[in-house]
Amino acid sequence: MIGGIEVIDFHGHAGLWDGVGMVDDVDTMVAAMDAVGVDRSCVFGIFHLDGRRGNDRTAAIITARPERFIGFAYVSPLMPDSMLDELTRAVDRLGFRALKLYAPHTPYKISDREWDPIYDFADSRGLAVLHHTDERCSPAHLAEAARRFPNARFVAAHSGNTPPARKLAIAAARELPNYYLETASTYRTPGVTEELVAGAGAERVVFGSDTPLMDPRSQIGKIITADISDAAKRLILGENARRLLGL
Ligand SMILES: [Zn+2]
Repeated sequence: MIGGIEVIDFHGHAGLWDGVGMVDDVDTMVAAMDAVGVDRSCVFGIFHLDGRRGNDRTAAIITARPERFIGFAYVSPLMPDSMLDELTRAVDRLGFRALKLYAPHTPYKISDREWDPIYDFADSRGLAVLHHTDERCSPAHLAEAARRFPNARFVAAHSGNTPPARKLAIAAARELPNYYLETASTYRTPGVTEELVAGAGAERVVFGSDTPLMDPRSQIGKIITADISDAAKRLILGENARRLLGL
């Protein structure tokens, strides 16, 4: 809780990532959240290509601390025969509230038609889709999907990450009412939060930390200390996420 509002972190991982030493220990994650006033973290398991194992790991975290974590469903076009069943299971049985997609695990562009059954599922239910973006996974390709599926809400994870891709993400958010920018990133020179708000409006910017891959303290610090209004900070830190997740 910061300034009387519930703080929601829109980007967190479930699972183990050995190469970078990421461990999803629930107590450690909650302690990190408590240290910076994050009330609830959205988590997803993207490290198993079958979707199901990662979603089960996400569900285990939520079961451990249901008041602190929100699940996002992970599937991919590499599981064409099972992706809709798994999405339905994750949303209807596990209670997940949005989708997380990660094109680098596939040979496809974000705008390729192989993703369409997944986007159509989100569109039919009005769900948010957090999709990894960077220079290769272009925010412009995510915009193509957002144009085709106007009832789904597309959130560009990392806001494109690098300056050229970030410009594309901001342009897409200006053009499309169902396009949002998420703030987690290793690449953040000072001023990027201000750039996102000036370019797209604070109602389109959503705080994410990439916890526990990244330390949420620096990720939230760049929002709290940004040269933007208090009203903008409230939108970014929680109010936009509440709207996107139907909370
Ligand atoms: Zn991430």
